[in-house]
Amino acid sequence: MKKQILMEKDEIKKEIVESMRDLYLRGLVTSSSGNISARIFGSEFLWITPTGPNKPKLKEDDLVKIDLDGRILEGNNKPSAEWRTHVEIFKVRKDVNAVVHTHNPFTIGVTMVRKEFKPVTTEASILLKEIATLPFKKPCSEELSKLVSKNIINRNALILRGHGVIGVGSDLNEAKSIVEVIEDDAIVQTVMKIFSKRASRY
Ligand SMILES: [Zn+2]
Repeated sequence: MKKQILMEKDEIKKEIVESMRDLYLRGLVTSSSGNISARIFGSEFLWITPTGPNKPKLKEDDLVKIDLDGRILEGNNKPSAEWRTHVEIFKVRKDVNAVVHTHNPFTIGVTMVRKEFKPVTTEASILLKEIATLPFKKPCSEELSKLVSKNIINRNALILRGHGVIGVGSDLNEAKSIVEVIEDDAIVQTVMKIFSKRASRY
């Protein structure tokens, strides 16, 4: 049993590091923005990316283990400045084992103009179920973490107006897919807007 937990822990840490690199290559996080956390199912602690730059070059040893009150249990770095939002989600969603927060440029742009995000692609309509766009709150604030925990109860995706996106899932792959599919849909919406404008000129 002990061996199994260790294997799962190493696997989670590896997945966090790999996911951050993938999201950086997709342009959904920058060197200094975005954060990821994950936990072993049912546990009262999580691994989270550290605060500070160089996200694409993160190593497993850079990750920080914290409990649901934000206390550091393992690691030499400070946890992500957005740690409050991550722990508040885990507190209200026992079924969630991974949280991904990114700064999707197209999604941010679309929701700064439109009040609600209405998916147009089949994939997004199926995967996202219900998505809410929350009013702007200061990043990393307690106010933001409370608003997110209230709204994530029956959803797997949230858009933070003027700031970014949060995706949650039973594992990291699920949470990562959420933020990727939202951005793909926002790109399609942008293309539709450009072409419908051009079409109206002829
Ligand atoms: Zn952010």
